[in-house]
Amino acid sequence: MRALSRRIFATVNKPVAATPAANFIRNIVEADLAADRYAQRRWSGQPGLAVTHAEAPPDTARIRTRFPPEPNGYLHFGHAKSICLNFGLAQQFGGRCHMRFDDTNPEKEAQEYVDAIQDAVRWLGFDWQDDREGNLYFASNYFPQMIACAEYLIEAGHAYVDSQTAEEMRARRGTLTEPGEDSPCRARSIAENRDLFRRMQAGEFPDGAHVLRAKIDMASPNINLRDPAIYRIRHVSHHNTGDRYCVYPMYTFAHPIEDALENITHSICTLEFEDQRPFYDWLLERLAEGGLIQRPRPRQYEFSRLNLTYVALSKRKLIQLVEEKKVSGWDDPRMPTLVGARRRGYAPEGLRLLMERVGVSKSDSLIDYRQLEDCMREVMNTSDERRVAVLEPVKLVITNYPEGQMEPCHAPNHPQKPELGTRELSFGRELWIEREDFREAPEKGYNRLYPGGLARLKYAYVVKCTGCEKDAEGRVTTVFAEYLPETKSGTPGADSVKVKGNLHWLAASAAFPAEVRLYDRLFRTPAPGADGDFLADLNPDSVRRVIAQVEPALAAAQAETRFQFERHGYFAVDHVDSRPGQPVFNRAVTLRDSWGK
Ligand code: ATP
Ligand code: MG
Repeated sequence: MRALSRRIFATVNKPVAATPAANFIRNIVEADLAADRYAQRRWSGQPGLAVTHAEAPPDTARIRTRFPPEPNGYLHFGHAKSICLNFGLAQQFGGRCHMRFDDTNPEKEAQEYVDAIQDAVRWLGFDWQDDREGNLYFASNYFPQMIACAEYLIEAGHAYVDSQTAEEMRARRGTLTEPGEDSPCRARSIAENRDLFRRMQAGEFPDGAHVLRAKIDMASPNINLRDPAIYRIRHVSHHNTGDRYCVYPMYTFAHPIEDALENITHSICTLEFEDQRPFYDWLLERLAEGGLIQRPRPRQYEFSRLNLTYVALSKRKLIQLVEEKKVSGWDDPRMPTLVGARRRGYAPEGLRLLMERVGVSKSDSLIDYRQLEDCMREVMNTSDERRVAVLEPVKLVITNYPEGQMEPCHAPNHPQKPELGTRELSFGRELWIEREDFREAPEKGYNRLYPGGLARLKYAYVVKCTGCEKDAEGRVTTVFAEYLPETKSGTPGADSVKVKGNLHWLAASAAFPAEVRLYDRLFRTPAPGADGDFLADLNPDSVRRVIAQVEPALAAAQAETRFQFERHGYFAVDHVDSRPGQPVFNRAVTLRDSWGK
């Protein structure tokens, strides 16, 4: 059984690293598996209360985890950490990870987000489906079971209907240092609570008239255990259940039940839920006692959120950037969203590598954005084919090369992967080179083109610069050089003349113009907003558009394909603005870290 589920998962998901590093959650899972702690769970193939699993065979998934976003926004790099952790654990241990939409809050949720979230998780390289299980769940489908759990708590004397106003409840809640005070409604009879909760569901009361509360302990040092609300009245339509309900569960009540119904073993969340764990445990213990959910029940574990320098990861701030049009949208390549990362050309493997490197812990971590960029470079250097693009072109005329003559030069598609072959670049009299690669008056140590200087045109010849031509404003319009016919790359004479500079170039008649967007960090400070308004820390130069000259082979580049443009960095074909034969390129990352230099 174990081998079978391992095999299934091995085909679904490709792990990032052969042996993932240890972390405290992996250690917990290993200990649980060694103790066979979850071996007795049964699984009917569908989430449900204990009765639906009772007759079912043992669960073939050794562990179950879940990624439970609320469909109220786009996923960002922080979510990627949770995705990698939850799906990664399931992969590593022969388990399954559920894709669960936590859509119990009737407001703010939309299909647009449901679709975008699924796309983003798949893009990151994970899947919840295999040939036996779908594992795509919507928490709102569990409303009937949640109502059943609430009714059970009422019958067992563990919940009551409170009719105080919100202010009265707040006043009696107490503080961190003082205990709370019992509600006058706490002594209601079971029959009265049953009747009131039934009438709350029947729509007899307006919003806020009553709430259902767990009856725990108003004097608990943990405020979350002072009779937390579990169901409230909201007369609003829900995107899935329409007008069927006018009572909705609180998140802290819904989430543990969702986990239990789905047979989740390890419910992993971020540290801000640590104080909720006692309620998570209290609730599931009561429900297990009553036989509503099976044992062993799920357990919650908390880890620290991912924070990155130079970005804002809070949903509120991301919304503000979009709404105030500081960026072009959620998928702006400068956004730390997964749709933005994808459009920018970030490799999903690079994000997975980052999450593995960053690890999982309970201490707050602020990760340097350079680490993300290094992971991208590492992955892309291996995966991406090389191409030539001249980002800021100026003409170079080889005055001793015959007019109208063209000759082929061969450039490898990947210097470390000869199996990827070569492509042809044609050399001729008129070329494009980078404006940066010529200086009329070179500074000391400059080893590219300057009058009298020698440099190699990569894959072609060594040339000797003879001068330049300028326009009325003194701007260089054409550089002149002579080539050394014996020095062609790949021929015995190639090394006869030693030079330091090695420049890229394109034949003017073969290259074509393309828009290239040079992205930089969206914020210029490592902790945007640390000294006030985060918008004041926006980097005014976070994007620069240039019309580059690019090699002919790029005309056929498909959307989202990525290349290393030699000497420049890694670039992806923008899938929104490119047209057939007319690609637009986004710079994902430079070849080397040049921030602040
Ligand atoms: P909000 O910003 O409204 O609090 P959220 O970012 O928590 O929302 P959810 O949809 O609730 O969004 O998140 C889904 C999962 O992603 C949760 O389990 C959450 O803990 C996790 N998550 C969100 N942000 C981060 C982060 N920065 N680091 C690690 N995990 C995160
Ligand atoms: Mg949240």
